Amino acid sequence: MSSYPIYIDYQATTPVDKRVLAKMLPYFTENFGNPASINHVYGWEAEAAVKQTREILANAIHASPEEIIFTSGATEANNLAIKGVAEAYFQTGQHIVTVATEHSAVLDPCRYLQTLGFEITILPVNQDGLINLADLEKALRPDTILVSVMAANNEIGVLQPLAAIGEICHQRQIIFHTDAAQALGKIPLDVQTMNIDLMSLTAHKLYGPKGIGALYVRRRNPRVKLAPQLHGGGHERGMRSGTLYTPQIVGFKEAVKIALAEQVTESQYLKQLRERLWQQLSSLEGIHLNGHLEQRLPGNLNVSVEGVDGAALLLGLQPVMAVSSGAACSSTKTSPSHVLTAIGHSEKLAYASVRFGIGRYNTQEEIDTIAQHFISTVQSLRNLSANQILTSK
Ligand SMILES: *Cc1c(COP(=O)(O)O)cnc(C)c1O
Repeated sequence: MSSYPIYIDYQATTPVDKRVLAKMLPYFTENFGNPASINHVYGWEAEAAVKQTREILANAIHASPEEIIFTSGATEANNLAIKGVAEAYFQTGQHIVTVATEHSAVLDPCRYLQTLGFEITILPVNQDGLINLADLEKALRPDTILVSVMAANNEIGVLQPLAAIGEICHQRQIIFHTDAAQALGKIPLDVQTMNIDLMSLTAHKLYGPKGIGALYVRRRNPRVKLAPQLHGGGHERGMRSGTLYTPQIVGFKEAVKIALAEQVTESQYLKQLRERLWQQLSSLEGIHLNGHLEQRLPGNLNVSVEGVDGAALLLGLQPVMAVSSGAACSSTKTSPSHVLTAIGHSEKLAYASVRFGIGRYNTQEEIDTIAQHFISTVQSLRNLSANQILTSK
């Protein structure tokens, strides 16, 4: 791997922790049973493993195991939450509130519902990327059925005030959904004290496998109804049919276990690396830190630089570091990040932005290499354009 650039894009995805992989492997071969097979030991063993994951996940967010519905990831969980609520509650109301900086897996289901006649209010954020609670309160109406606000932003790492949002929704008996894909295992999550009714989770952002996630669905105070989006054998209490993917589910459990056990030390480590990186990068003139300085994921740093072309910057960084500008899933699009324009950046500055997602396997040495290369790339691009201006005169 020595010719590979340094991976510092852990908000896009993470490698599977080897401890996680080791626990998964037997479930591909010896323990291959279908957890829904109730008549023999193959099924029982698989079902026991699935049950354990439900318990670990439920404990992680202070829910109960029956409230965990497995999905293929956070995209599916968001779709099930948003479209499932819309379909189940449309007779109560047809208004949904969300935020400009949400992941496309929240915004796009909302846009889809708009085509069916639902009304969507998209709240703005301030320069730090946080919503204003007064804006939220003003947006709520008697026909509002759902509020969807993410826990941690995937581009700028900003943590929204979940407990305060939950309180506001709870008082008005409006269902509160949060996309916690980036937050699980990184920051404390508690569906009880935060009054969260639906929570989307995924394994591949916390050193688990891709293709497995979950939706927490509250069963008490209130009992949330969901219209299933996949019909079939009636798995997952009828909310999500399809044979459970046991090896991935086992991997999810192990990933969450490790993340919880190491949360405090790991977040200290990541914060320290992030501070080290920012300390060096901030020596550049015309560099901006995107997102709230404190209220953010420990491993996230997102910066914009003035006076350079975004595409040229990323090209210059590429041989040394694997980073992205904006979200991985939207990097095929040519439009600038909707998150960075939402915090007030011009298109040009939004293009000249880099997201550093620092993770478990990054070292201090790597951080220093990255910082040095970033600074020299920006400086040489600026010199180049200065020279071009001189020679064109
Ligand atoms: C990664 C991510 C998703 C998508 O999750 P998948 O499991 O890849 O479908 C959704 N929301 C946020 C905030 C994410 O970071």
